Amino acid sequence: MKLGFIGLGVMGAPMAAHLVAAGHDVSGFDVHAAAGEKLAAAGGRAATSVADAVAGADVVITMLPNHPQVEEVVLAAGGVLDTAEPGALLIDMSTIRPETSIAIAEAARDKKIRVLDAPVSGGQAGAEQASLSIMVGGDAADFEAATPVFDAVGKTIVHVGPHGAGQVVKAANQLVVGGIYGLVAEAIVLLEASGVDAATGLDVLAGGLAGSRILELKRKSMVEREFAPGFRIDLHHKDMGIALAAARQADVALPLTGLVAQLVAAGRAMGYGSLDHSALLKVVEQLSGRVPAEV
Ligand code: NAD
Repeated sequence: MKLGFIGLGVMGAPMAAHLVAAGHDVSGFDVHAAAGEKLAAAGGRAATSVADAVAGADVVITMLPNHPQVEEVVLAAGGVLDTAEPGALLIDMSTIRPETSIAIAEAARDKKIRVLDAPVSGGQAGAEQASLSIMVGGDAADFEAATPVFDAVGKTIVHVGPHGAGQVVKAANQLVVGGIYGLVAEAIVLLEASGVDAATGLDVLAGGLAGSRILELKRKSMVEREFAPGFRIDLHHKDMGIALAAARQADVALPLTGLVAQLVAAGRAMGYGSLDHSALLKVVEQLSGRVPAEV
């Protein structure tokens, strides 16, 4: 297929490279020109603008930070809806608020462009290993049509409902991940303050009912205070905002999500925004007056 790929950052760059490796003709654009050059080195083409990446594409993929960037790239003059061929499929894989995904689908309908929201989980490692989990909102026929794209970058690929549903599932994912990080951080602070070796204690937790992917993958780096991202606190702060806004939209109360959102906001306010989200440990330590280890 002929693909346009917009947003070649931490996630987008390896995903675009996997699509090239799967045999697709990929034109990529990023406001940072160096990212386009990297794609060209991997066998794709560096486009000079959104319109250039989109020209003649069967499928356009966006992997951008947040809804303002998606709105600019998709809805602005010279953007995807302005320049894509009727019948083209736009797959937005960014994590953004569900209402924007729904608004984009409505705007695209008038232009006869099909749209899926398809946020991902699995982080940079998942993007590099083509093992992402992908939660997809939109029409079933469009989901089927997108299978070759999803297969090239992901392993767990599920159609979860209509437009916006993918983003709601991603919001649920992020509130669970944030909550578990907060609790693992509290467990570490309790163990250390009680004079119990945290690494040993967490080994036991990881094998019992408290076990989780986060304990499995991150307990060692958390105890050793290694907080290189990974997934940045700044991005998780955005995602907690999306989860709270979605809760308001659905008229439900999510008290734990609210609390975790405040802890993540505190981490950002304390200057940890560019650290990995496991640096929530530094926030929890400071609440108990314990001095965080230097990073
Ligand atoms: P990133 O900041 O590394 O990449 C985004 C890219 O978009 C950047 O290269 C930026 O230059 C480019 N960009 C911004 N505005 C643009 C525009 N107008 N036109 C063209 N390019 C533009 O972010 P990322 O980590 O790759 O994350 C992308 C999305 O995926 C986010 O919504 C994030 O929440 C989500 N996500 C990230 C991870 C992760 O571990 N990093 C995991 C799951 C989901």
